[in-house]
Amino acid sequence: MSILNYEKRYDEILTNIEKVRVSVNQHQIIKIVAVSKSVESREISEMYNIGQRAFGENKVQALKQKTIELESLPIEWHFIGRLQTNKINALIDLNPSLMHSCSSLELAKEIDKRLKIKGRTLDALLQINSAKEEQKAGVMPETALDIYDEIISTCSNINLKGVMSIGAYTDKQKVIKESFEKTYAIYEELKTRDAKYCSMGMSSDYELAVECGANMLRIGSILFH
Ligand SMILES: *Cc1c(COP(=O)(O)O)cnc(C)c1O
Repeated sequence: MSILNYEKRYDEILTNIEKVRVSVNQHQIIKIVAVSKSVESREISEMYNIGQRAFGENKVQALKQKTIELESLPIEWHFIGRLQTNKINALIDLNPSLMHSCSSLELAKEIDKRLKIKGRTLDALLQINSAKEEQKAGVMPETALDIYDEIISTCSNINLKGVMSIGAYTDKQKVIKESFEKTYAIYEELKTRDAKYCSMGMSSDYELAVECGANMLRIGSILFH
Protein backbone atom coordinates (compact mmCIF):
# COMPACT_ATOMS: atom_id res chain seq x y z
CA MET A 1 0.00 0.00 0.00
CA SER A 2 1.27 3.49 -0.78
CA ILE A 3 2.09 6.06 1.84
CA LEU A 4 -0.86 8.16 0.67
CA ASN A 5 -3.23 5.31 1.45
CA TYR A 6 -1.64 4.89 4.85
CA GLU A 7 -2.11 8.56 5.56
CA LYS A 8 -5.77 8.56 4.57
CA ARG A 9 -6.50 5.50 6.68
CA TYR A 10 -4.56 6.88 9.61
CA ASP A 11 -6.46 10.17 9.49
CA GLU A 12 -9.81 8.36 9.34
CA ILE A 13 -8.94 6.32 12.41
CA LEU A 14 -7.76 9.40 14.31
CA THR A 15 -11.00 11.19 13.41
CA ASN A 16 -13.09 8.24 14.58
CA ILE A 17 -11.21 8.08 17.88
CA GLU A 18 -11.50 11.81 18.37
CA LYS A 19 -15.28 11.78 17.88
CA VAL A 20 -15.77 9.23 20.63
CA ARG A 21 -13.08 10.70 22.87
CA VAL A 22 -14.62 14.17 23.12
CA SER A 23 -18.01 12.66 23.88
CA VAL A 24 -16.51 10.65 26.74
CA ASN A 25 -13.83 12.86 28.24
CA GLN A 26 -12.49 16.13 26.86
CA HIS A 27 -9.24 15.77 28.81
CA GLN A 28 -8.37 12.19 28.07
CA ILE A 29 -5.28 11.64 25.98
CA ILE A 30 -5.43 8.44 23.95
CA LYS A 31 -2.33 6.68 22.81
CA ILE A 32 -2.27 4.47 19.74
CA VAL A 33 0.07 1.52 19.57
CA ALA A 34 0.36 0.49 15.93
CA VAL A 35 0.49 -3.31 15.96
CA SER A 36 3.01 -4.14 13.27
CA LYS A 37 3.19 -7.93 13.67
CA SER A 38 1.86 -8.60 10.18
CA VAL A 39 4.08 -6.13 8.31
CA GLU A 40 7.77 -5.64 7.58
CA SER A 41 10.11 -2.88 8.67
CA ARG A 42 9.47 -0.98 5.44
CA GLU A 43 5.79 -0.53 6.29
CA ILE A 44 6.68 0.47 9.83
CA SER A 45 8.99 3.21 8.62
CA GLU A 46 6.25 4.49 6.29
CA MET A 47 3.88 4.68 9.24
CA TYR A 48 6.62 6.39 11.22
CA ASN A 49 6.95 9.00 8.48
CA ILE A 50 3.26 9.83 8.86
CA GLY A 51 3.81 10.52 12.54
CA GLN A 52 3.19 7.26 14.39
CA ARG A 53 5.80 6.61 17.08
CA ALA A 54 4.63 3.62 19.15
CA PHE A 55 4.62 0.15 17.59
CA GLY A 56 3.66 -3.20 19.07
CA GLU A 57 4.95 -6.69 18.36
CA ASN A 58 3.77 -10.00 19.80
CA LYS A 59 6.87 -12.13 19.22
CA VAL A 60 10.26 -11.53 20.78
CA GLN A 61 12.14 -12.70 17.69
CA ALA A 62 10.25 -10.33 15.37
CA LEU A 63 10.65 -7.49 17.82
CA LYS A 64 14.37 -8.12 17.88
CA GLN A 65 14.70 -8.17 14.10
CA LYS A 66 12.65 -5.01 13.60
CA THR A 67 14.46 -3.21 16.41
CA ILE A 68 17.73 -3.88 14.62
CA GLU A 69 16.42 -2.98 11.16
CA LEU A 70 14.86 0.24 12.39
CA GLU A 71 17.64 1.18 14.78
CA SER A 72 17.99 4.65 13.26
CA LEU A 73 14.40 5.64 14.15
CA PRO A 74 13.47 6.63 17.72
CA ILE A 75 10.56 4.18 17.82
CA GLU A 76 8.80 3.35 21.07
CA TRP A 77 8.43 -0.44 21.07
CA HIS A 78 5.67 -2.26 22.94
CA PHE A 79 5.51 -5.98 23.57
CA ILE A 80 1.94 -7.29 23.45
CA GLY A 81 2.20 -11.06 23.05
CA ARG A 82 2.46 -14.18 25.13
CA LEU A 83 5.90 -14.41 26.66
CA GLN A 84 7.49 -17.85 26.96
CA THR A 85 9.82 -18.28 29.90
CA ASN A 86 12.76 -19.02 27.62
CA LYS A 87 12.31 -15.64 25.89
CA ILE A 88 12.28 -13.47 29.02
CA ASN A 89 15.97 -12.60 28.92
CA ALA A 90 15.79 -11.71 25.22
CA LEU A 91 12.83 -9.41 25.82
CA ILE A 92 14.57 -7.65 28.72
CA ASP A 93 17.62 -7.10 26.52
CA LEU A 94 15.41 -5.41 23.90
CA ASN A 95 14.30 -2.92 26.55
CA PRO A 96 10.70 -2.37 25.36
CA SER A 97 9.00 0.79 26.50
CA LEU A 98 6.02 -1.18 27.83
CA MET A 99 5.10 -4.84 28.16
CA HIS A 100 1.31 -5.22 27.93
CA SER A 101 1.11 -8.92 28.58
CA CYS A 102 2.16 -9.70 32.11
CA SER A 103 -0.45 -12.43 32.39
CA SER A 104 0.13 -14.19 35.72
CA LEU A 105 1.85 -13.83 39.07
CA GLU A 106 4.20 -16.70 38.15
CA LEU A 107 5.29 -14.95 34.95
CA ALA A 108 5.78 -11.67 36.84
CA LYS A 109 8.00 -13.42 39.40
CA GLU A 110 10.02 -15.07 36.67
CA ILE A 111 10.51 -11.76 34.83
CA ASP A 112 11.38 -9.98 38.07
CA LYS A 113 14.02 -12.59 38.89
CA ARG A 114 15.75 -12.04 35.54
CA LEU A 115 15.43 -8.26 35.86
CA LYS A 116 17.18 -8.37 39.24
CA ILE A 117 20.03 -10.46 37.85
CA LYS A 118 20.48 -7.95 35.03
CA GLY A 119 20.03 -4.93 37.29
CA ARG A 120 17.15 -3.67 35.18
CA THR A 121 13.51 -2.64 35.51
CA LEU A 122 10.53 -3.06 33.18
CA ASP A 123 7.29 -1.11 32.82
CA ALA A 124 4.39 -3.54 32.42
CA LEU A 125 0.63 -3.93 32.38
CA LEU A 126 -1.30 -6.72 34.06
CA GLN A 127 -3.27 -8.62 31.43
CA ILE A 128 -6.82 -9.42 32.48
CA ASN A 129 -8.93 -12.13 30.90
CA SER A 130 -12.11 -10.14 31.41
CA ALA A 131 -14.32 -12.33 29.25
CA LYS A 132 -12.94 -15.46 30.96
CA GLU A 133 -12.09 -17.19 27.70
CA GLU A 134 -10.16 -20.41 27.88
CA GLN A 135 -7.95 -19.63 24.89
CA LYS A 136 -6.89 -16.26 26.29
CA ALA A 137 -4.08 -15.42 28.66
CA GLY A 138 -4.49 -13.16 31.65
CA VAL A 139 -5.66 -13.18 35.23
CA MET A 140 -9.31 -13.60 36.13
CA PRO A 141 -11.06 -10.31 36.87
CA GLU A 142 -11.94 -11.34 40.45
CA THR A 143 -8.30 -11.90 41.31
CA ALA A 144 -6.83 -8.98 39.35
CA LEU A 145 -6.62 -6.48 42.22
CA ASP A 146 -4.97 -8.95 44.59
CA ILE A 147 -2.49 -10.10 41.98
CA TYR A 148 -1.69 -6.51 41.03
CA ASP A 149 -0.91 -5.74 44.68
CA GLU A 150 1.08 -8.94 45.05
CA ILE A 151 3.24 -8.02 42.04
CA ILE A 152 3.79 -4.54 43.45
CA SER A 153 4.92 -5.94 46.78
CA THR A 154 7.00 -8.89 45.57
CA CYS A 155 8.36 -7.88 42.16
CA SER A 156 10.23 -4.68 42.86
CA ASN A 157 11.91 -4.47 39.44
CA ILE A 158 8.59 -4.51 37.58
CA ASN A 159 6.82 -1.15 37.45
CA LEU A 160 3.14 -1.86 36.98
CA LYS A 161 1.48 0.89 34.97
CA GLY A 162 -2.06 -0.40 34.57
CA VAL A 163 -4.02 -3.10 32.79
CA MET A 164 -4.45 -4.67 29.38
CA SER A 165 -7.30 -6.73 28.02
CA ILE A 166 -8.54 -8.16 24.75
CA GLY A 167 -12.26 -7.68 24.14
CA ALA A 168 -14.57 -10.68 24.23
CA TYR A 169 -14.33 -12.83 21.11
CA THR A 170 -17.82 -12.39 19.70
CA ASP A 171 -19.83 -10.25 17.29
CA LYS A 172 -22.17 -9.20 20.07
CA GLN A 173 -21.36 -5.58 20.90
CA LYS A 174 -23.05 -5.89 24.26
CA VAL A 175 -20.80 -8.73 25.35
CA ILE A 176 -17.65 -6.96 24.14
CA LYS A 177 -18.76 -3.84 25.96
CA GLU A 178 -19.27 -5.75 29.19
CA SER A 179 -15.74 -7.13 28.97
CA PHE A 180 -14.34 -3.62 28.45
CA GLU A 181 -16.41 -2.23 31.32
CA LYS A 182 -15.14 -4.94 33.61
CA THR A 183 -11.55 -4.11 32.69
CA TYR A 184 -12.13 -0.40 33.14
CA ALA A 185 -13.68 -0.89 36.60
CA ILE A 186 -10.52 -2.70 37.70
CA TYR A 187 -8.36 0.03 36.18
CA GLU A 188 -10.29 2.66 38.12
CA GLU A 189 -9.64 0.83 41.37
CA LEU A 190 -5.97 0.70 40.49
CA LYS A 191 -5.61 4.43 39.89
CA THR A 192 -4.91 4.72 43.62
CA ARG A 193 -1.91 2.42 42.96
CA ASP A 194 -0.65 4.74 40.27
CA ALA A 195 -2.09 2.87 37.28
CA LYS A 196 -1.88 5.08 34.17
CA TYR A 197 -2.87 2.94 31.22
CA CYS A 198 -5.96 1.01 30.31
CA SER A 199 -4.89 -0.82 27.13
CA MET A 200 -7.90 -2.23 25.30
CA GLY A 201 -9.46 -1.96 21.87
CA MET A 202 -8.22 -3.37 18.56
CA SER A 203 -9.18 -2.87 14.90
CA SER A 204 -12.71 -4.23 15.29
CA ASP A 205 -13.64 -2.59 18.58
CA TYR A 206 -11.44 0.44 19.24
CA GLU A 207 -14.29 2.97 19.24
CA LEU A 208 -16.22 0.92 21.75
CA ALA A 209 -13.07 0.65 23.87
CA VAL A 210 -12.66 4.44 23.91
CA GLU A 211 -16.30 4.74 24.89
CA CYS A 212 -15.54 2.44 27.83
CA GLY A 213 -12.52 4.45 28.98
CA ALA A 214 -9.52 2.98 27.18
CA ASN A 215 -6.56 5.36 26.92
CA MET A 216 -4.28 3.02 25.00
CA LEU A 217 -5.40 1.27 21.81
CA ARG A 218 -3.59 -1.55 20.01
CA ILE A 219 -4.52 -1.23 16.36
CA GLY A 220 -3.07 -3.41 13.63
CA SER A 221 -4.94 -4.68 10.60
CA ILE A 222 -7.04 -1.60 9.77
CA LEU A 223 -3.97 0.60 9.96
CA PHE A 224 -1.76 -1.45 7.67
CA HIS A 225 -4.16 -3.09 5.21
C1 LIG B 1 -2.73 -8.56 16.85
C2 LIG B 1 -3.06 -7.94 18.14
C3 LIG B 1 -3.68 -6.68 18.20
C4 LIG B 1 -4.13 -5.93 16.96
O1 LIG B 1 -5.17 -6.60 16.34
P1 LIG B 1 -5.89 -6.00 15.04
O2 LIG B 1 -7.20 -6.69 15.02
O3 LIG B 1 -5.02 -6.33 13.89
O4 LIG B 1 -6.04 -4.54 15.24
C5 LIG B 1 -3.93 -6.14 19.45
N1 LIG B 1 -3.57 -6.77 20.59
C6 LIG B 1 -2.97 -7.97 20.58
C7 LIG B 1 -2.62 -8.61 21.87
C8 LIG B 1 -2.69 -8.59 19.36
O5 LIG B 1 -2.10 -9.79 19.36
